[in-house]
Amino acid sequence: MRPISYSRATAVADAVAAVAADPTSDFLAGGTTEVDLLRQNVLLPRRLVDINDLPLTGIEDRPDGGLYIGALARMSEVAEAPAVRERFPMVAEALVLGASAQLRHMASMGGNMMQRVRCGYFRDASSPCNKRDPGSGCGALDGFNRGHAVLGVSEHCIATHPSDVAVPLVALDARIHTEGPHGRQVHALDDFFLLPGATPHLEHPLEHGELVVGIEVPGLAMARSSCYLKVRDRESYEFALTSVAAAVDLADGVIRDVRLALGGVATKPWRARRAEELLRGAPADIGAFRRAAREELAAARTTPLNAFKAELARRTVVRALATLTGTEHAS
Ligand SMILES: Cc1cc2nc3c(=O)[nH]c(=O)nc-3n(C[C@H](O)[C@H](O)[C@H](O)COP(=O)(O)OP(=O)(O)OC[C@H]3O[C@@H](n4cnc5c(N)ncnc54)[C@H](O)[C@@H]3O)c2cc1C
Repeated sequence: MRPISYSRATAVADAVAAVAADPTSDFLAGGTTEVDLLRQNVLLPRRLVDINDLPLTGIEDRPDGGLYIGALARMSEVAEAPAVRERFPMVAEALVLGASAQLRHMASMGGNMMQRVRCGYFRDASSPCNKRDPGSGCGALDGFNRGHAVLGVSEHCIATHPSDVAVPLVALDARIHTEGPHGRQVHALDDFFLLPGATPHLEHPLEHGELVVGIEVPGLAMARSSCYLKVRDRESYEFALTSVAAAVDLADGVIRDVRLALGGVATKPWRARRAEELLRGAPADIGAFRRAAREELAAARTTPLNAFKAELARRTVVRALATLTGTEHAS
C-alpha cells in the first residue's frame, strides 16, 4: 500500500500553490483517468489536491458568439448546453459519443484535455514505454498496435491521442486558459498538444502545478453547420478508430470555408490543414472530398496491424463532408 494524502482546495491560487510546491502531487478532478492510473501504478502521486470545489464550472457566452467553458464543467453538462448544441453541434456530438453516461457526469472538460493515452503499454507499468519511463523503449512499435496512431508518430511513440472533444475544439481554434505558479497563460489548443518526437513524456507545455481553468471557443458562424463522425469497433463506450470533426460554409455548391480535424489516427488531435487548403474554393463533390482526404493522409506511417486506419480515415473524411453538404455518396 502506498499512502496518499488528500486535500480539497477552495481557491484557484491555493490549488496551484499546493501542487506547485510538491512534485509528487497531482490535481484531482472527476478522477476517471487519475484514479484508474493510480490503481495501475502508472501514476504514483503521494498527494492529491481535489479541485472540485473551485468555481470553474460555468459555460459563458462571449461577445463574439463564442463560449468560455470552465475546466470543471462536466462533459455531460457541456453536451447538453443549448448554446453548445446550437452553435457548436460538433462539440456536443463529440462529447455524447465519448465514454458512457456515468463517466460523462463525472469527467470534467479540463480533465478531458489532460487525460492520458490509452496505449496498453503505457498503462501496463511492467512494459517498456518512453512516455511513462523515458528511454525505456516503446512496446507498441513492434507489439499489438492495431489502435495506434498513423499521423504525427515517431520512432519513440505511436500512442493515439484519446480525446474526442479535443478534435472539434482543435478545428475551432479553441484556446486553453491556465493559472500557474507564473500567473495566467493562454495556449492555442493546436500548440497545447505536443507531438511525441524524441520526448513523448512531454505531452503539453504546462509546468507542474499549472491548472487548466477554462477553454475558450471563438465564435464561428459556420460551426452551426458542423458534425462529428466517430467510427469505432462497437457502437458505444469505445474510443475512436477514426473520427472527423467538420464544419462547412457552403454557397452555390462551392465550399467557401471549411474546418476539419481528425481523431483516433494521430498522436494529437489532428487539424487537417492540407485538406482544408484543398477544399477551400472547391466544388462540394465526392471527387474533391476524396482528393483532400488522400492528401491529408499521404503522410501516414502505418504498421501491418494499423494500416487499415489510413483508408478508414480517408473514408470517414469523405462521409463526414458528404453528410454535411448533402452530397450523394456511394460508400
Ligand atoms: C472506460 C472509459 C472510457 C472512456 N471513453 C472515452 C471516449 O470515448 N472519449 C473520450 O474523449 N474520453 C474517454 N474517456 C476518458 C475520459 O473522458 C477522461 O477520463 C476524463 O475526461 C478525465 O476527466 P476527469 O475530470 O475525470 O479527470 P481526472 O481523472 O481527475 O484527471 C485527469 C488528469 O488530468 C489532471 N487534471 C484534471 N483536471 C485538471 C485541470 N483542471 N488542470 C490541470 N490538470 C488537470 C489530473 O491531475 C490527471 O492527471 C474514457 C474514460 C474511461 C475510464
